[in-house]
Amino acid sequence: MNFAFFEGRIVPFADAKISVMTHAFNYGTGVFEGIRGYWSNNKINVLMLGEHYKRLFNSAKIIKIKINYTIDQLIDITIELVKRNGYREDVYIRPIAYKSHERIGLGLTGIDDDLTIYMAPFGEYLDISKGINICTSTWRKIDDNIIPARAKVTGMYVNSSLAKSEALENGFDEAIMLSTDGHVAEGSGENIFIVRDGRLITPPITENTLEGLTRALIIELAKDELGIDTKERTVDRTELFIADELFFTGTGAQISPIRSIDKRVVGLGTIGPITSKLQKIYFDIVKGNNPKYKHLITPVEI
Ligand code: PMP
Repeated sequence: MNFAFFEGRIVPFADAKISVMTHAFNYGTGVFEGIRGYWSNNKINVLMLGEHYKRLFNSAKIIKIKINYTIDQLIDITIELVKRNGYREDVYIRPIAYKSHERIGLGLTGIDDDLTIYMAPFGEYLDISKGINICTSTWRKIDDNIIPARAKVTGMYVNSSLAKSEALENGFDEAIMLSTDGHVAEGSGENIFIVRDGRLITPPITENTLEGLTRALIIELAKDELGIDTKERTVDRTELFIADELFFTGTGAQISPIRSIDKRVVGLGTIGPITSKLQKIYFDIVKGNNPKYKHLITPVEI
């Protein structure tokens, strides 16, 4: 049987149900995280657990959701939930803090909040071995002054879903979204990196992108492990066309090489050398095999 954390307790997954009148269900007033746990060495190695909860608190602050737990309590609850579910495969953990009031009417204050956590087995979200084909979306990335993009707000994912769905319906694997001013922002659920002349480039967070944890880790790993600096600067769509390598980063996407964009082959159409080195370093770390980065992993014995 699967379990979820719901209304303050770990309960059978089937009992974790909200009312149709719930504010978050009606108005998209929730904030969430997506956390991966990698099954390796007979443990679930949960990646950047504390960092994810830190971002959840930031998202919650932006849309005035009160979380009645500390980060340490949420970490303990998550570990307990991972143990109770007992999956012996890669998992995805989804905490959501949300406006739980059963009330009609807009606003963010004077409305009850709650938090739930559930998890499920999870494999690859995007291909990581041969490269994906992406397109530029006709949907623009939502602006920070419309729905704050740095907060992981449930309602914001209508924007991402429009882009993802359009891409899939047109035969692509994923979409790249531009900001209203036409600069590259991010994928529907990923940050993007460009390799040009042996250097890394990624759009700045102020380009209406999520403050991606994988993005931050890749910037650190590129510098510390490969001696490669990442330039955070505005990127034009056409610069993606002439990149030597392109890849997405994200908890779900991991490091997903991009094979083509808008029907233009990227580089040689194979996984580039820098992408491939970063993948190797990343997967070693997430499986708990690199002692230097043990602090990023919460190992849970099953
Ligand atoms: N951008 C968006 C819109 C996302 O949903 C995600 C996934 N959380 C990311 C970027 C990547 O962020 P992270 O590396 O923290 O998973």
